[in-house]
Amino acid sequence: MASAIKDFSRLCVHTQTTRPWDLKSCVENYSRAGIPGITIWRNVLENQNLKEAKKLLDDHGMTVVSLCRGGFFPSADPGKREEAIRDNLRAIEQAAAIGAPLIVLVCGADGRQSLERSREQIAEGITRILPAARDAGIRLAIEPLHPMYAGDRSAVNTMKQANDLAGLINSEWVGVAVDVYHVWWDDTLKTEIERCGREKHLFAFHICDWNVPTTDFLNDRGLMGEGCINIPEIRSWVEEAGFRGFHEVEIFSTRFWATDQKEYLKKIKQAYLKKS
Ligand code: ZN
Repeated sequence: MASAIKDFSRLCVHTQTTRPWDLKSCVENYSRAGIPGITIWRNVLENQNLKEAKKLLDDHGMTVVSLCRGGFFPSADPGKREEAIRDNLRAIEQAAAIGAPLIVLVCGADGRQSLERSREQIAEGITRILPAARDAGIRLAIEPLHPMYAGDRSAVNTMKQANDLAGLINSEWVGVAVDVYHVWWDDTLKTEIERCGREKHLFAFHICDWNVPTTDFLNDRGLMGEGCINIPEIRSWVEEAGFRGFHEVEIFSTRFWATDQKEYLKKIKQAYLKKS
């Protein structure tokens, strides 16, 4: 049984959740709304002076929870794999510059090769960037993605695969991000979350809801409580596994992006208290 959420002290919002806003608008509005945590998507850092971005975050007392996203390691084309390594090294520099202690990895997949081959390349890719991450003091979180993305976005589709991969790499700098949207359906979820905690690599917890029916498999994620995911139950498993970090609201929604983002932020806070 999950304990109720009493306040906003562990609430984090992903900049992509309020996609119409630039970094400055996200920071100012989250801060004004009493939301202490922010996960920054790299698109809002484009053409930004990172020192100024860091100052903006510091001036508003925001805690940067993570940078989204690195990954996309596999490709049948070796040149593309090298490009991915360079891009991930850039992400590590960006994370260090803005004070993000964690990078979320959307690991990638290439439909021209087997999932096993893609997973091997993911392990190789993470191993390649690990020294730079460790030197910068940045942790890496493997986020398993729903199997509907196995053809192009991630060959890591279950908590078991993510735990296995983290175990294979076996570094205190590499762990797993649990996103309820991707893993809620898995009948081994509770035991794999327990294992993740036991192996001390449960690094992040993302929340939103699965709309029924879902009209778009990328940009129709629901607000907590709108869909069929038992978020409080999954949160209780994550907390029992020892996780004490932020609850990160990550919602891609064409429907909500079309609305007033300040009103939407109020809805997020209400849903967080009552339905998470
Ligand atoms: Zn996520």
